[in-house]
Amino acid sequence: MSFQPQQNVDLAELTTFKIGGQAAFFTEVTSASQLPEIFTWLNQKELPHLVLSGGSNTIFGDGIFRGLVIKVSIMGFTTYNESEKSVDIKVGAGEDWDAVVRRTVELGFAGMEALSGIPGLTGATPVQNIGAYGQELKDTVKSVEVFDTKSGELTSLTRADCGFGYRDSIFKSDLKGRYIITGVVFELSKKAPGVPNYKDVVSYFASHNIASPNLAQIRQAVLEIRSGKFVDPSVMPNAGSFFKNPIVTELVAKKIMQQNPDVKLYPEDTKIIPLEGGNYKIAAGWLIQNLGLKGLELEKVRIDPNHALVLENKGGASQKDLKHLVKRVQDAAIEKYDIELEPEPVIVEFN
Ligand SMILES: Cc1cc2nc3c(=O)[nH]c(=O)nc-3n(C[C@H](O)[C@H](O)[C@H](O)COP(=O)(O)OP(=O)(O)OC[C@H]3O[C@@H](n4cnc5c(N)ncnc54)[C@H](O)[C@@H]3O)c2cc1C
Repeated sequence: MSFQPQQNVDLAELTTFKIGGQAAFFTEVTSASQLPEIFTWLNQKELPHLVLSGGSNTIFGDGIFRGLVIKVSIMGFTTYNESEKSVDIKVGAGEDWDAVVRRTVELGFAGMEALSGIPGLTGATPVQNIGAYGQELKDTVKSVEVFDTKSGELTSLTRADCGFGYRDSIFKSDLKGRYIITGVVFELSKKAPGVPNYKDVVSYFASHNIASPNLAQIRQAVLEIRSGKFVDPSVMPNAGSFFKNPIVTELVAKKIMQQNPDVKLYPEDTKIIPLEGGNYKIAAGWLIQNLGLKGLELEKVRIDPNHALVLENKGGASQKDLKHLVKRVQDAAIEKYDIELEPEPVIVEFN
C-alpha cells in the first residue's frame, strides 16, 4: 500500500475560526480515485476520519484527533446538457464556491447569484444546504457525487436523496460521516433572474435606480450588502452566522411580537404571515441583541460588538472557551424566550 498521510498536522489554521488542536494524520485528495485506497488504509488501522473543505463552518476540538482528516481538493467545472432554457454544470468539490458563482454569473446562468460571497468550497455547500437572500443550494442541485465510505464505491445521490432542509441535509444529520462529496451537479436557468425579495436588496436597487437587475448586478448587490453584514474572518476569526434562526410555533412568535413590536421575523416584512406549516422564523441576531449580549467577552472569545450573530476568536481561543460563550447565550435565550438556539457551524469534539 502506497498511501502515506502527513502526521501531527495543526488544524486551527485550516479553519476561519482558528480553533483546534492537531490531527494525528492528514491528507489532501485531488481525485476521487484516491479515496478507495485511503479507506482501505483507514479500515486496516481501524481509525476514524473527518472531512474538511474550506474550514469556514468547522470548529475543531482542542486536543488531538486520533484519526485522518481528509481535505477534499478535487477540481473541475464542466457545462453540459445545454438547451435554450437551462444548462447543467458539474463542479469539483474542491472548487472555491464564490469563484463558481462568479463564473456562472459571467456565463449568464441563473440560480446561484444570491449565494455570492459565501466562503468555502463547493463540496461543503450541500452539507448545510447553504442559503442567503432567499436562494438555497437545494433549488439548483440536481445530484451530488459521493464516495460511500460504507460500500467503498463512488456513486451519485439525487436531490431527493440528500434530505435538504433549513441549513441541513443527510450529510449533516442522519448519514453524517458516511459520504465524502466529490462533486456537485447543478441545473441552472438561462431565463432572466428573479430579484431577491429582501429589504436590503430591494432598497439597494431602488437607490441605484435599477428596475430590472441582471445577474451581474444582483451578484454585485449581494456582495456589497454582505460586506457590511459579515465580519471578515481574516481580520477577526469567525464562522459567519453562529446560530440558526430559530423556527418557532405561532404561539411563541405572537408572544414575542406582543412583547417586542420591532422583532424581525423571516421572511422579511412578513410579520403576520407564517412559514409553511404555520411556524415562524425569528432572527437569532435580533434575539441575542435583545438579550443584551452584543459585545459580550468571555475568556478569549466574544460576540461582535456590531453583529450579534457573529461569535469571534480574539486570539488563541480554545473550543472550550467558545463553548462557555455558546452556553451563556443559549441559557439566556431559554430563560427569556424559551427558545433553543442551535449553532450553525459543525462543532467537532475530539475524544
Ligand atoms: C463570513 C462568513 C459568512 C458566511 N455566510 C454564510 C451564508 O450566507 N449562508 C450559509 O449558508 N453559510 C454561510 N457561512 C458558512 C459557511 O461558509 C458555509 O457553510 C460553507 O458552505 C462551508 O464551506 P467550507 O468549505 O468552509 O466547509 P468546512 O467548514 O470545511 O466543512 C463544513 C462541514 O461540511 C463537511 N464537509 C466539507 N466538505 C465535505 C465534503 N467534500 N464531503 C462531505 N462533507 C464535507 C465537513 O466535514 C464539515 O462538517 C458563512 C461563513 C463565514 C465565515
